[in-house]
Amino acid sequence: MAYEAVIGLECHIQLRTRTKMFCECPAEFGAAANSNVCPVCLGLPGALPVTNKAAIDYALRLGLALQCEIRGESVFARKNYFYPDMPKNYQITQYDRPLCDGGALPVRIEGVDRSFTLTRIHVEEDTGKSFHPEKLGDRRISRVDFNRAGVPLLEMVTEPVFHAPAECAAFLTSLRRLVRWLDISDADMEKGHLRCDANVSIRPVGATKLGTKTELKNLNSIKGVERGIAAEIQRQTALLDSGGRVEQATLLYDADHDKLAVMRSKEHAHDYRYFPEPDLPLLRVSETWVSEARAGLPELPWELESRFVSGFGLPPYDAAVLSQDCGLADYFEKVAGLASAKAASNWVMGEALGRMNARGWTLQEWERRVTAVSLGELVRRVENKELTGPLAKQALDAMADEGVDAVTVLERPEYQVRGGADELLPLVRAVIEEHPGPVAQYRGGKAATIGFLVGQVMKKSGGQAVPQVVKELLEKELVGKS
Ligand SMILES: [Zn+2]
Repeated sequence: MAYEAVIGLECHIQLRTRTKMFCECPAEFGAAANSNVCPVCLGLPGALPVTNKAAIDYALRLGLALQCEIRGESVFARKNYFYPDMPKNYQITQYDRPLCDGGALPVRIEGVDRSFTLTRIHVEEDTGKSFHPEKLGDRRISRVDFNRAGVPLLEMVTEPVFHAPAECAAFLTSLRRLVRWLDISDADMEKGHLRCDANVSIRPVGATKLGTKTELKNLNSIKGVERGIAAEIQRQTALLDSGGRVEQATLLYDADHDKLAVMRSKEHAHDYRYFPEPDLPLLRVSETWVSEARAGLPELPWELESRFVSGFGLPPYDAAVLSQDCGLADYFEKVAGLASAKAASNWVMGEALGRMNARGWTLQEWERRVTAVSLGELVRRVENKELTGPLAKQALDAMADEGVDAVTVLERPEYQVRGGADELLPLVRAVIEEHPGPVAQYRGGKAATIGFLVGQVMKKSGGQAVPQVVKELLEKELVGKS
């Protein structure tokens, strides 16, 4: 039988605030174990939480970018369960009255603009982290680091709107770009800044009733999300095809072995006994606060991407690459301020990104050496034929490796263009002399042969001649003497 998959996602976004959600401890990653803790995040009796305003600012930024409805009064709630990495035995989260309702994330999939509907976004605190260090030689020993306990998280829940694993991967890619763009999270999945669980069910094609869903946890990369969901769809399909049925369960995906393991079945489902957090007041977000947050939003990545196409006339592919990162988009716009947009795009996407990757540099490291103004100047000179492409590429290497600006580098003798007829004519004549075959072909009407001859002259000039000038000289010589 043919089935259709129905998938919903739950994403956790770790916010990049300076301090934790309800205390003053630093929220940084990578500190010595249990060094960023206090009575509040250790859950000691009598300690009282205080809401971190910056975390709410970040939540508003995301909610407004996604057109969510912002609730003026939302409620923190206790989610009760026991786990060694959670010293209070409850997590402060939001339950029936979250900060953001609805909304949608725009995602471009294979050139088509799609939009995936959200159920909600709420604010909560993270738990600590358990370790099971095998090298202690005794696997019964577990250790807990509470540095992460109380770090602010946003939980984003989508409607069951996905039908293919690739859609989920594209959604996460778009979400990762957005939260980095809004400067609210590093969204590094490997470090757990962005985590994703998926609810997966299948139903016969054409059916409207949803099948029994399973929950897939431990999806810690975008590839892992795509593969894990695909494996679960395959597992459910095989079950139904063999006359079995899908049991409600939580599964873990092991990305290294591409395998699913059932973690717990429905009988062990939790009853979290939510109730409003008595130690915190209602979270009140005034209209002024919302309008300030709205006014502070940057141009959003999908808005900028379509402006690059409509305003700059870039191909959609270029616009997509350049709008992956707001720093890169900004760098491109500055280069495009000094040269044509298409040339700027070629140089940023091809030459600059290529050199960054080859050297293992971030954009920041690159920009310290090759500023947008400097690259713009280089591209402008190529466009004005003051510099040839091959020379400009060599000059860019020198600029990057030495950290010297374009104007200074281009003063060096090796980057001077040889454009004068008196300099180039001997080279042109030598090439005509050395290649009688192609010369005869050209004179016989095969105009394209000129390209070969231009190439030969360029070689002789060490890349310093301007191809257009060489071509004109060659044409004059060849016509003049036929
Ligand atoms: Zn603390």
